[in-house]
Amino acid sequence: MHEYPPDAPRLHTIRLYLQQQLAEVERRLAEIEKPAPPAPPTPAPEPLTGWKIERSIGADSSPVGVHQADCRLSGKRTRPITRRDAIEAITQGTPPCAFCTPDVALGIDL
Ligand SMILES: [Zn+2]
Repeated sequence: MHEYPPDAPRLHTIRLYLQQQLAEVERRLAEIEKPAPPAPPTPAPEPLTGWKIERSIGADSSPVGVHQADCRLSGKRTRPITRRDAIEAITQGTPPCAFCTPDVALGIDL
């Protein structure tokens, strides 16, 4: 351990030095250990709008259904289409999805 001087003036100086050191260590610890600020909220994803057409697996990849863009029942083989293409596909015989009913949304009376 340290050997301290026997006289009060030097012990007071040492005490002051140690108090300053302790204050500095506590300030640094508070800086390091303070909780991280909360993360900013992530924005909600934009809702998908529009329509998409689903195609079959086969080589001809013929259209097998028309969906609204946010339909959860559509398969992975879909691509976005325009409103006009959706109307055309449905009126030419591509079945509208019974779940998301793009025909109703498009005002098509089948
Ligand atoms: Zn659908």
